[in-house]
Amino acid sequence: MEKPTILGGLKSKTKPFPTWPQWDKSDEKVLLEVLHSGKWSRRDVNNVASHGAKSYINMLEEESKTRFNSKYSLTVSSGTAALDIAVKAIGISSGDEVIVPAYSFIATATCVLHAGGIPVFADIDEDTWNIDVSKLDKHVSPKTKAIIAVHFAGQPADMSDLMSYARKKGLIVIEDAAQAIGAKWQDTNVGSIGDIGCFSLEMTKNLTCGEGGIIVTNNEDFYKKMYSLHLTGRSFSGSWYEHEELGWNYRITEFQAALAYNQMKNLDNQISIREKNAAKLNDLLSSLTGIRLTSLDPRVTTHAYHLFTFRFIPEEWTRFSRKRFILALNAEGIPCYEGYSYPIYKNPLFLSLGYEKYSLICNNAEKITKQSLWLPQNVLLGDEQDIEEIFKAIEKIRYHFNIK
Ligand SMILES: *Cc1c(COP(=O)(O)O)cnc(C)c1O
Repeated sequence: MEKPTILGGLKSKTKPFPTWPQWDKSDEKVLLEVLHSGKWSRRDVNNVASHGAKSYINMLEEESKTRFNSKYSLTVSSGTAALDIAVKAIGISSGDEVIVPAYSFIATATCVLHAGGIPVFADIDEDTWNIDVSKLDKHVSPKTKAIIAVHFAGQPADMSDLMSYARKKGLIVIEDAAQAIGAKWQDTNVGSIGDIGCFSLEMTKNLTCGEGGIIVTNNEDFYKKMYSLHLTGRSFSGSWYEHEELGWNYRITEFQAALAYNQMKNLDNQISIREKNAAKLNDLLSSLTGIRLTSLDPRVTTHAYHLFTFRFIPEEWTRFSRKRFILALNAEGIPCYEGYSYPIYKNPLFLSLGYEKYSLICNNAEKITKQSLWLPQNVLLGDEQDIEEIFKAIEKIRYHFNIK
């Protein structure tokens, strides 16, 4: 077995991975089209001059409705904004509890705080890293109003059990599909399974225009409320300077919408490349000890693979840590991160609010945070050689540091 790079061997990676984001001439064309049109925002709403130009914001919303099979779609300035609006639109207010998975990006929980509600953290499943629906009972109280499901890394959460549980308890479900645009649970698009679905178009996400977000819903009341909230609380059908509730300016610009709209045509192809490469990588890595692969729920029809996740199992190594594993892998030319520093509730923000106690409840979130390894999605956009080189790097590290 060749030596790892950190012991003086050659790098496993012999050519660069595809970069992210990716663009071509057609992206330049739509951006310049918006520039020259003079219509740079949604300012034409309610009869304000639109310069007669077409609206990529409207086109992106129409495309999202068709693609995600939803009655309504609203574009916003970020995935965080999408969640803020969604939680507010379902009526969360002071003292209402919303159940969120402990292992996610912080916005999954801060949206509840912004509305005045109380996030209640639920543990995740050790194998899929998604919310463990079987443990929800212990978190539901008379104050519970909703559940936010995260499709972590692009793998849909168990939406069948989650929806039947929520319906039984009369709870609203918001899908935080920031990492999972294009993913499908039993042939249905994530985002359109719960009451409201939120996507992120931030630069690392699988569909991006730098910053942005898309919300989808089949509920007309929620849609109207969200439309108003993202437009500084303007009345849905009133005039530009008529505000009926406490809102934000969470609008996306025409530049962002044009880029996202144009990039959307690449989504399906990119998803299938990532899925094919992830299957190969899973297959190769399954022969190794010292690491544990993330399981794929057989009811997942499409995994968006925003990340390729696996775990470092400390008990299977001697005098070798996750930190050193990552350094060794990075030295081979493979980008790899440990991911979130804490389960959400252990961030200083939540500790200051008295959330420490969840470390006793969320055992899997605690464990995953200590063992997680993330590969970014662009490494899955390459060819077979890219995948073989990732495997070779990990195999070398395992072989040379499996000291007993
Ligand atoms: C990225 C992300 C968000 C927030 O999206 P932004 O567009 O960055 O504001 C929310 N939830 C999850 C799970 C995310 O990964």
